[in-house]
Amino acid sequence: MSSVQEMLSAADRAPSDVDGTSKYTRNNPYSSTVVSNYPLNSENTVKETRHIAFALEAGMTYSPGDSLGVLPEYRAEAVAEVLAALGFTGEARVLNYYKQEVSLDVAMRSWLTIGKLTRGTVGQYAKLAGAPRVGGRGYDALKQMCGPENKERAEEYCWGREFIDLITDFPGAVTDPQELFNVLPRLAARLYSISSSQLAHPSAAETTVRVVRYSSLGRERQGVASGELGERAVVGAVLPIFLHSNQNFRLPEDGSAPVIMIGPGTGVAPFRAFLEERQAKGERGKNWLFFGDQHEATDFLYREQWAAMQQQGTLTRMDTAFSRDQPHKIYVQDRIRENAAEIYAWLQDGAYFYVCGDAVHMAKAVESALLDAIAQGLNGTPERAAEYLAVMKQQKRYQRDVY
Ligand SMILES: Cc1cc2nc3c(=O)[nH]c(=O)nc-3n(C[C@H](O)[C@H](O)[C@H](O)COP(=O)(O)OP(=O)(O)OC[C@H]3O[C@@H](n4cnc5c(N)ncnc54)[C@H](O)[C@@H]3O)c2cc1C
Repeated sequence: MSSVQEMLSAADRAPSDVDGTSKYTRNNPYSSTVVSNYPLNSENTVKETRHIAFALEAGMTYSPGDSLGVLPEYRAEAVAEVLAALGFTGEARVLNYYKQEVSLDVAMRSWLTIGKLTRGTVGQYAKLAGAPRVGGRGYDALKQMCGPENKERAEEYCWGREFIDLITDFPGAVTDPQELFNVLPRLAARLYSISSSQLAHPSAAETTVRVVRYSSLGRERQGVASGELGERAVVGAVLPIFLHSNQNFRLPEDGSAPVIMIGPGTGVAPFRAFLEERQAKGERGKNWLFFGDQHEATDFLYREQWAAMQQQGTLTRMDTAFSRDQPHKIYVQDRIRENAAEIYAWLQDGAYFYVCGDAVHMAKAVESALLDAIAQGLNGTPERAAEYLAVMKQQKRYQRDVY
């Protein structure tokens, strides 16, 4: 039995976590065939972003703003490396979270997080290790990464490391494969914003995936889900997926309302869905898209489609910020500041303002630029701008989907 089948055959799974607009959920995923998978960047870029479309069965529906969930699997080489370091074979039998017997190979591919290391894993591993299992000095070093007082040290250790690094640095702690279920977190589904409108693509959900690849401590690494999607999810491959609805990221019901969309990098994905939807419905509201990435020549995702939409009149306006095409970095928030007066005019006209993409830096910087634009427009204080934005939030005219 393949690992996916073995995983899907799990009858008694955790209760559904309200995903999906069909009978399929993250606990009862749909086996979807990949119908297209191609790069969106040109070849000479360090980044790799791919357009990946998944087939849907009749009755599976989604709306612009929803996401697609993928239950990922680690690549065979990564599992083999961990097995070898632990000295176990993939055929060993273990009980999964539902007390069903599966092979250790399946457990490490689909149930356990053997990728990015967490502080929790280091702590659990140290508990398991105990002095007799991991020799004296190793055990001392492990202990020094445990407890709230050592949080910073543990985080520093975890950054850029995976489970393979921990078991290589401190071998010998795991003596029974079942113990891995106490040490490693459960492998979680990954979400990807759907970048298509179902009105334009009735039997598919399309996604825009940035493949996470990096080199750290002499090893070439990749994200579990984006690596699988980028490398192994070739056309014809079958993957367990589900649809995840997001009622808090929705186009205005009024098709004549103006819309401003801020979507740098893969943040642009849901806005492709928004624009396709408005185009398919023939909605007349104005649409303004801000997009940004590193280089115009290589990273201008969906460039031709935006140009066509501009010609057709769906995309009223598009502003771009390519951060590394000039000596000083330019980001979408800088474009917002440059266009502050017009943005405020759109807001006064009832525009909805959407932000998608990086939560750590971008979303905050965009909010601060937006507040400045509002304060300028109001000729008022930051407090009044904050009140204005609060009213927009209440009216659902300021919506974010950031990750
Ligand atoms: C609602 C939502 C929508 C999303 N939409 C999209 C989308 O449209 N497109 C998209 O691509 N993603 C999207 N994501 C993100 C996506 O779900 C995954 O988080 C992302 O693809 C990474 O998952 P992974 O399994 O490939 O990587 P993981 O296996 O989770 O590995 C990622 C981890 O690797 C480590 N890491 C990464 N780079 C480095 C580095 N240079 N040095 C050291 N360590 C590093 C970090 O610890 C990082 O957390 C979305 C997320 C959410 C919540």
